[in-house]
Amino acid sequence: MEHLCPLCNGLNNYQRYCSKCGTKMEDEGRVQDYYDNYSPYLSYGITDLADGEPPDICQHIFTCPTCNNDDIVNITKTFK
Ligand SMILES: [Zn+2]
Ligand SMILES: [Zn+2]
Repeated sequence: MEHLCPLCNGLNNYQRYCSKCGTKMEDEGRVQDYYDNYSPYLSYGITDLADGEPPDICQHIFTCPTCNNDDIVNITKTFK
């Protein structure tokens, strides 16, 4: 059986709203992918993830286009 992240696979329109300003946040993709592109964010406190994420969780970064607030969301993977 294969774990499948609904967001990575476009199966789910997960919507999240900014806790600061209420704007609909944008999915920036998986935390680890985000990392590779924006290593300064390592100070963020999510460096523990370098060891890998739980097999049934896909962590995504959502950012707010209005105020640049960002959030890490644990997306539960589903079974194929
Ligand atoms: Zn994912
Ligand atoms: Zn915001």
